[in-house]
Amino acid sequence: MKLGDVELISIFENYFKLDGGAMFGVVPKVLWNKLCPSNDNNLIRLDLNPLIIKTGKEILVVDSGFGDVLNERQLKIYNLGGPTRWDGELKKNGLKPEDITGVIFSHAHADHAMGALKKGKDNSLQLRFPNARYYIQKREWQDAMNPNERTAATYLVDNLHVLEESGKLELLDGDTELFHGISVKVIGGHTPGMQAVIIDAGGQRVIYPADLMPMTAHIRVAYVPAVDLDPITTMKQKRWLHEKMLREDWVLAFDHDVDIKFAKFKEDEKGKVVAVKFG
Ligand SMILES: [Zn+2]
Repeated sequence: MKLGDVELISIFENYFKLDGGAMFGVVPKVLWNKLCPSNDNNLIRLDLNPLIIKTGKEILVVDSGFGDVLNERQLKIYNLGGPTRWDGELKKNGLKPEDITGVIFSHAHADHAMGALKKGKDNSLQLRFPNARYYIQKREWQDAMNPNERTAATYLVDNLHVLEESGKLELLDGDTELFHGISVKVIGGHTPGMQAVIIDAGGQRVIYPADLMPMTAHIRVAYVPAVDLDPITTMKQKRWLHEKMLREDWVLAFDHDVDIKFAKFKEDEKGKVVAVKFG
């Protein structure tokens, strides 16, 4: 998608499968299953959709998918669709890993941060994008490196150490404009330090709200994943996002939707908020 001088590309890094109940919390299966059909094991498919932002000066990656650093046990837990598609997706867009100047993490969960690493020849972990700086909220990084009983399964601390030791990590303290027209906003809810990325270009505002609204099936305020640490904050932020999407005509980039990567919202005849594919 071209917005003035800025180009946005939604990447298909991989797909994986998770328990449908975990993705919809208190919503009964008879309701969510209409939006997200599950298989015999109650699993639903989620795509991994990192975003590339080309500004002319910077080539940024927003979130990085799972990559290929998971061990056997982790691969089973996440039911990954296959090997990472990073190299092919970059090539398709005329890019090399070395071209990436910055990586912005919404948060440090394995499906968002592990794709920033890759296995070297001796099986040691390396940075996938060797020339990039890596941006994340300080709060998120502290929580990720010191997980509790509830969060330990979602942060792969040993792997995250590689990022920390690279010397290329930039810890952010709250909302900030990182580059001209590209800013981050702390959203919380899913994790306290999760941030959205907001792009202003060509008179259009685009938001990548990460796991605040992972799929179109999560548009409704009450459809909050059971894994969210603070569901009340998620609901509050979703109301805010509805308001912005509808009244200010924003575009939303979904991080896990299978069919719709970019959308605008509208209210249907019954006043229900729905996504309309964009770009
Ligand atoms: Zn997450």
